[in-house]
Amino acid sequence: MIINKERKLEHVTYSKKEILLLIGVFTLLTTVILALHPLTAATTATTTVVAPTVSTYLKTVPLAKPLADPPNTIIHPTYDSKGNPPTAPGLIMKARVFNAEPPKVVYITIDDGPYLQNTPHLLDVLKKENVKATFFDVGQQIEQFPSLLKAEYDQGHAIGNHTYSHDYSALYKSPDTFLADVQKTDDLIFKIIGIHPKIIRAPGGTSCFNIAYYNLLDANDYMAYDWNLDTGDTDGKFSVQQIVNNVDKQIGNKHKIILIMHDLPNKSSSANALPIIIAHLKEKGYTFDTLSTNIIPITFPEGFYK
Ligand SMILES: [Zn+2]
Repeated sequence: MIINKERKLEHVTYSKKEILLLIGVFTLLTTVILALHPLTAATTATTTVVAPTVSTYLKTVPLAKPLADPPNTIIHPTYDSKGNPPTAPGLIMKARVFNAEPPKVVYITIDDGPYLQNTPHLLDVLKKENVKATFFDVGQQIEQFPSLLKAEYDQGHAIGNHTYSHDYSALYKSPDTFLADVQKTDDLIFKIIGIHPKIIRAPGGTSCFNIAYYNLLDANDYMAYDWNLDTGDTDGKFSVQQIVNNVDKQIGNKHKIILIMHDLPNKSSSANALPIIIAHLKEKGYTFDTLSTNIIPITFPEGFYK
């Protein structure tokens, strides 16, 4: 009996523990359920969650990315021979009419002048060789040496616009700043020789452009010309022979060459190399001509980015 009683007592004691445990579990579950219930959670949230600051928001919300081009988008980096414009997503350019070109032709382009130190020398060489070139002049230099611009033009060379400032940081701030700079030079050229050249060369080439630059320049009838043969004379340290070698290496099987050189003050080797360059090109059967908007531009394909 005692045993039974003890058992009974033990049983009662155990039941009490069990009840306490059950009450504990029930309380815990009730708390969790209430906390997870939407109404309870919302009430709690209004009192405990602090709205994120602006800086927190910017850090956690990613910026929207532009949509990728549709798959298999065909991009033509320059005009075709029929005058159909380049194509790329977002690019809007006019069709043009271009002249037929000789089978092997070179367009010599001379950038960054005019300067007293080298432009007259280059003009003398070109006159002696009876070759016409295209001078992409800088507005700031034209202001200083208007008579040299006039000499270039009077000698029959083509005149192109190489911006007013040649300042990359200003030019590549926006298409509008680029266009304003070009138009400033356009006005200067018109005052001195009475023409509005529509051929331009972007400092650094069109690889500095995005689609908006092409669209704005085309809307204003300008056409940009890059090059496919670089004398390498921007370095300023090259000897005559090194410049000639640079040119010889790049001629290859090109049917059409737009050659770039410079008439900056420290480029005397360029003018001295020019007669040799002309001789080598003539030997290979090339003829020489000047650029105009009737000539299909050569532009860098990598210029088409967004
Ligand atoms: Zn330049």
